[in-house]
Amino acid sequence: MTVKYICRHCQTSIGEIRQEEVSEYQLGFHFLTPEERRDIISYNPNGDVTVKVVCDYCKEALEANPELSLLANPLQ
Ligand SMILES: [Zn+2]
Repeated sequence: MTVKYICRHCQTSIGEIRQEEVSEYQLGFHFLTPEERRDIISYNPNGDVTVKVVCDYCKEALEANPELSLLANPLQ
C-alpha cells in the first residue's frame, strides 16, 4: 500500500510512504479523534491511503492570515 500525504489546501504532494503493511499506529492515526480521521484520512479503492496535511507554505499563509482557514474549513 502507498500512503500519500497531500496538502489539504493546495493539493501539493508532500510525500509518500510505500510499505507492505503500515499500521495506523505507525502513522500516528491513533492520536486522532474519529472526526479528525474522517476529515484527514481517505482510503482509496485501490488500497492506497491519502492523508491530508498542511504544507509549509500554506501553514505560513494560514499563520499570517488566520481567516483563510475559515474558507478552507467551512464546518469550523
Ligand atoms: Zn499547501
